[in-house]
Amino acid sequence: MATLPLATIGDAYASTYLWDCFRGLTDIGSRMAGHEGEAAGVGVLEAAFADGGQRAVTVTPFDVPGWWRDSSRLTLVGDSTRTFDAAHQLLALPGSPPGEVTARLVDVGYGTPDEVTATDVDGAIVLASSRNPPTMARPCNRTEKYAWAVDAGARGFLYCNDALAGGIPATGSVRFGSEMPGPVPAVGVSRELGERLRRHAADDGSVRLLVDCRTEPAVSRNVEGVVGPASGPEIVVTAHTDGHDVGEGARDNAAGAALLAEAGRLLASEDIELATRIRFLSTGAEELGLLGSRAWVETNGTADVAAHVNVDVVGFSRTMRAEGPAAVAEAFRAAAAELGVPRDPVGTADPYGGVWPFWYSDQWHFATRGVPSVTCRSVADAGRTALGWGHTHADTADKIDRRDLRDLAIHLATGLVRLAERADGLDPIPGCAVRARIPDATAEYLRLDGRWPW
Ligand SMILES: [Zn+2]
Repeated sequence: MATLPLATIGDAYASTYLWDCFRGLTDIGSRMAGHEGEAAGVGVLEAAFADGGQRAVTVTPFDVPGWWRDSSRLTLVGDSTRTFDAAHQLLALPGSPPGEVTARLVDVGYGTPDEVTATDVDGAIVLASSRNPPTMARPCNRTEKYAWAVDAGARGFLYCNDALAGGIPATGSVRFGSEMPGPVPAVGVSRELGERLRRHAADDGSVRLLVDCRTEPAVSRNVEGVVGPASGPEIVVTAHTDGHDVGEGARDNAAGAALLAEAGRLLASEDIELATRIRFLSTGAEELGLLGSRAWVETNGTADVAAHVNVDVVGFSRTMRAEGPAAVAEAFRAAAAELGVPRDPVGTADPYGGVWPFWYSDQWHFATRGVPSVTCRSVADAGRTALGWGHTHADTADKIDRRDLRDLAIHLATGLVRLAERADGLDPIPGCAVRARIPDATAEYLRLDGRWPW
């Protein structure tokens, strides 16, 4: 027998609610945290949550350091000066300060801590790849590479999007825990510009980097609602409303926020009796440093939260994987088996050691407080890329297939019903067990970034 009533599954197939919500979010364009577009996105979700039958739909504002870009320019200093200033060549990274620096250019390869500490980058502008060495077992992203470069004395940071050709630099905050803005200017550069810069660095060239941007106090917002029992513990399901100021934030994370709304609508059906209350929380300012989820846990605590499910980087296939402790992920494995999802949807057996590290998204603030927590994300189907349109001009609505979202919503809702049945028996995960999942070098970075909670 299906976990969801057949009428609910039929409704998921026939209704345009999910697709309308997704298009409502992506049609806004930029939903950058603290900007008007994010507030518009919150408005779309607030109306959708209420229309979908969630109760106690609430919008809660909180203060953030808003960031606005102006132009950026990079000039090769040498016999012939050449200047790059187009959006398909470079983009300032949120959290960058404004500034102008002229310095020798140092290619630090992947930009891992080992490479940065083995190279003299003091006073230099460094160029780091978005990739990591194939031998590297742990994830290491932009924020970490920036932190290590700054720590080693770099005066500027260039981050090359080696994952995508075609003039597609990637944006993304360089400050997750520490005060914004960071100490040195930072830009993302396209793969093509990155290759040109590598040749320039090999010739001992210098560059002049100009970044124009501003950081100002701004307001972001969380939006939430509930379905299920009025009392007792609850399951919190998060996605983030905000996106970047390029593209439409389609897979990161309009798809996730729309799935949240649709799961809420399906589970609000009077034909479904949930064993545990479910709170749907679409956070603000995730991209600026997980600020909405931090505001929520600081205000509400996690004593009543039996489990947490995060939905992020999703929608580019109909195969969804839940990564995190088995006690939670098993609910989604059972749902996948019921629905005939053709591959292991749970991921690695290591509770917090999956492909998707929990310190990169809203999972962090729940997991570090001991809440059993998973992140649900899409896994690329054969022949379709998982590679990141996210954080680029190309993260647009046309990349998402409406049928995929529909399947994902049914998987998510089915998994949540099953999780609600077992939420009573879930134990908190002690902080020391969570901490033990974090590689030593990552722990050092998290300390550098000012967000090591132990
Ligand atoms: Zn995201």
